[in-house]
Amino acid sequence: MIRKVLIANRGEIALRVIQACRELGIATVAVHSEADRESLHVQMADESVCIGGPYANTSYLNITAVIAAAEITGADAIHPGYGFLAENAHFAEIVEACDLVFVGPHPAAIRLMGNKSAARRAVADAGVPVLPGSREPLESRQEALNLAAEIGYPVILKASAGGGGRGMRLAYDERELRHAFDTARTEAEKAFGDPAVYLEKYLERPRHIEFQILADEHGRVVHLGERECSIQRRHQKLLEESPSAILTPEQRLLMGRAAVAAARAARYVSAGTVEFLLDVDGSYYFMEMNTRIQVEHPVTEMVTGVDLVREQLLIASGERMSLPARRAVRVRGHAIEFRINAEDPDTFAPSPGRVTRLILPGGPGVRVDTHLYAGYTIPPYYDSLIAKVIAYGHTRAEAIARGRRALGMLRIEGVKTSARLHLRILDDRDFINGDFDTHFMDRYLSS
Ligand code: ADP
Repeated sequence: MIRKVLIANRGEIALRVIQACRELGIATVAVHSEADRESLHVQMADESVCIGGPYANTSYLNITAVIAAAEITGADAIHPGYGFLAENAHFAEIVEACDLVFVGPHPAAIRLMGNKSAARRAVADAGVPVLPGSREPLESRQEALNLAAEIGYPVILKASAGGGGRGMRLAYDERELRHAFDTARTEAEKAFGDPAVYLEKYLERPRHIEFQILADEHGRVVHLGERECSIQRRHQKLLEESPSAILTPEQRLLMGRAAVAAARAARYVSAGTVEFLLDVDGSYYFMEMNTRIQVEHPVTEMVTGVDLVREQLLIASGERMSLPARRAVRVRGHAIEFRINAEDPDTFAPSPGRVTRLILPGGPGVRVDTHLYAGYTIPPYYDSLIAKVIAYGHTRAEAIARGRRALGMLRIEGVKTSARLHLRILDDRDFINGDFDTHFMDRYLSS
C-alpha cells in the first residue's frame, strides 16, 4: 500500500487528494510555487516543499523539481491531479523510472489517448463508433478536400496533439477548408509542438456526454454512468450534471458499453473519462478519452456514492477497486456542478485578487470543493477556477432548486466571480426542460 503521496498540483484538486489520503491514512506532501505559499493545500498537507517560481513552467510543470521533492520527502507515489503534468506520458514514465507510483494510468495509455487521431483509430478498431473522418493525420490539403467532399460539410480540423478546447478549426465549404488547413497546422505546431491535424464530420447541434470509467490491474473495467457537459463557453465546460436529462436507458447501456470497450482498447487502468458527442438523431460518437481525474468528477461521486480519488489510490496500490463485484454501479438521484471562476461574469476577464469575505453554502445535498478562505489572495498565474458548488437532489428539479439556493447564499467578496451566470442558467426555460446542446451558451450570451 502507498504510504506517502506527493501531490503535483494546487488549488481545489490538491485539497481533494489530501482529503482522500487522510481517510486512507496516507501521508501527504504538497508542492507549491512561490506564489502559493499561503495556499490551503500547503497548510493542510503533512509536509510541503517550494519547487519554484510563480509561473507554472518553473514550478508545477518542472518535472525535475517535482521528482526531487518526492525524493527529499520520501514520498512513494505522485498524484498529478488534473492539468499541469497529469496527461504527460513522459512525466509518468519518469515517475515509474524513479521507483515511484504514478497515481493514474500507465504511460502507454496516456500516450495513446493523448494522440487524438491514434485514439480514434484504436477505439474504432475496438468497434466503438467514431465520427466519419480521417484514419491517419492528413498528409496534404488535397487529402483534406477529398475527404471532406466524401463525408460532406461541415467538417472540423483538430490537432492530433490538441486539448483544452484549443486547436480546432471549422469549415463549412471547400474555400474555408483550403484556408483552415494551413492555419490549423500552423496553430497546432505553435500550441502543441506538433503540426499533425485530422479531420472529422462536424455535428451542428450535438450534446457532450461523457462516461466515467474505473479500471484496476485485476482486469476489471466499469463505468459509473454519464455526465452531461454541454453547457460550455468556447469549448470550456461551465456546468455539468449527472445523469443527463435526455439519455434513454438503451442509449446509456450502449454508450456505457462503448466507453468500457474504449478503455479496454487502451488497456486502461485508474479513473478516466470517455467523451462522446450525441447527435440529434440519437447516434453517438467517441470524441476522446481523458486519462486523469476530471474537474467534474464530484457529480459522479454524488450520484454513485463512490469516492473516485480513493479508488484511484487503491488501484495505484495494486488493489481491486472497492465496488461490489458482478454488479453495475447504481446511479441514484441527480447532481449538478457549477464551476465558479474568478472572472467577470460579463466579459469573462480574469479577476484575481484578495478574497475579503467568504461565506460558503451548506445544507442538504450541497457540496463545495474549494481552496478559498477569507483573506486569501488568488494569484494571477493559474487557472481561474476557485470553487465548485455541487447540488444533489432526488430529482433534477430538486437539484436545480438546491443549486439555486446554494448559489444564492454563496458570498465571495473582493473578486468578481461567475456565480451569477449560473443563476441565470438555472432560470432558463430550455435548461430547465433539458432542451439544449453545446451551443446553449453562444445563443444565450448573444441574447
Ligand atoms: P479538447 O480535448 O480540446 O477539449 P474535444 O475534442 O474534447 O477537445 O472537443 C471539445 C468540444 O468541442 C466538445 O465538447 C464539442 O463541444 C466541440 N466539438 C469537438 N468535436 C466536434 C465535432 N466533430 N462536432 C461538433 N462539435 C465538436
